[in-house]
Amino acid sequence: MLRTITKVVLFTVGVIAMISNVAFGQQTNEQAFEIIESANDSIDLRSNFYDVTDSLSDYFPANELYESWDNDGIYYPKVDFSNKKDTTIIVLCDNKTNFYVQPVKGRINSEYGFRHRRFHYGIDLDLDIGDSVKCAFDGMVRVSRYHKGYGNVIVVRHFNGLETVYGHLSGSRVHENQLVKAGQLLGYGGSTGRSTGPHLHFEVRYLGTPMNPHKVVDFDKFKLLNDTLYITNKTFEKKNTKPTYSKTTSTVKSSTSGTTTVKSSTSGTTASKSTGNYHYVKKGDTLGGIAGKYGTSVSSLCKLNGLTAKSILQIGQKVRVR
Ligand SMILES: [Zn+2]
Repeated sequence: MLRTITKVVLFTVGVIAMISNVAFGQQTNEQAFEIIESANDSIDLRSNFYDVTDSLSDYFPANELYESWDNDGIYYPKVDFSNKKDTTIIVLCDNKTNFYVQPVKGRINSEYGFRHRRFHYGIDLDLDIGDSVKCAFDGMVRVSRYHKGYGNVIVVRHFNGLETVYGHLSGSRVHENQLVKAGQLLGYGGSTGRSTGPHLHFEVRYLGTPMNPHKVVDFDKFKLLNDTLYITNKTFEKKNTKPTYSKTTSTVKSSTSGTTTVKSSTSGTTASKSTGNYHYVKKGDTLGGIAGKYGTSVSSLCKLNGLTAKSILQIGQKVRVR
């Protein structure tokens, strides 16, 4: 089984390498372009990209897919996948050594897709400043630096071929070229760069091209959607695709699972349960109104947020409700 997958991956590597070379053709010189184009065998193709005597080529994660390794580029040159005809299979979890860890277990503040006329290439996950941000898969830190948009940002290239991006951090606990494990502490949540409040900007990319993280992760369960990711030309569609898992399904599942049933059925309004731990102040909101909506009290809201009963709320202000 694994051998078959390896074969498929090797084959697709070859095809993608050819596609990507066409895309980069304008940047490379004519001669290099000819050499690659004449190589039909994926193995030969690989040896054209890499010097096999170079020990570094064995060292960097997914070196057979990527042509280079650098510590500067947050944006890796994008490959045009619109003409991709085949399917690339990526094993995300094999129940042995490869697995996924949710970087931050927070609700989604902002989805992948068009936002204020710009495209938002990641998912924003709610957190508090100082919360641990963990690495999604095994890999190596490619970028760890400050960027005026992303703030303190970490980019990790994984052995499975994907890259993940962690933005707006308050601090980093890793350095460039450091090998990291799934679940390892990368840094702390923050609001650095172009950010309106504490959150993690989380991107999933393949060969530098972002995809909707919903294609990989079930953000209700904080687990992989599937152990295997099938990459086609549709993987990179810039649509606000609705996740394939529905909120109602997961609610039904959690309510049927043992002891939690009692707890959730006795806790006030179920509607507020799904909105997470925070309320964003809207026009006309009062502390009393918010307390009523979430089945809590004004005094506990004040305690949680360092407010007094007379505090004036600002529209858009984030109020912790539990
Ligand atoms: Zn974001």
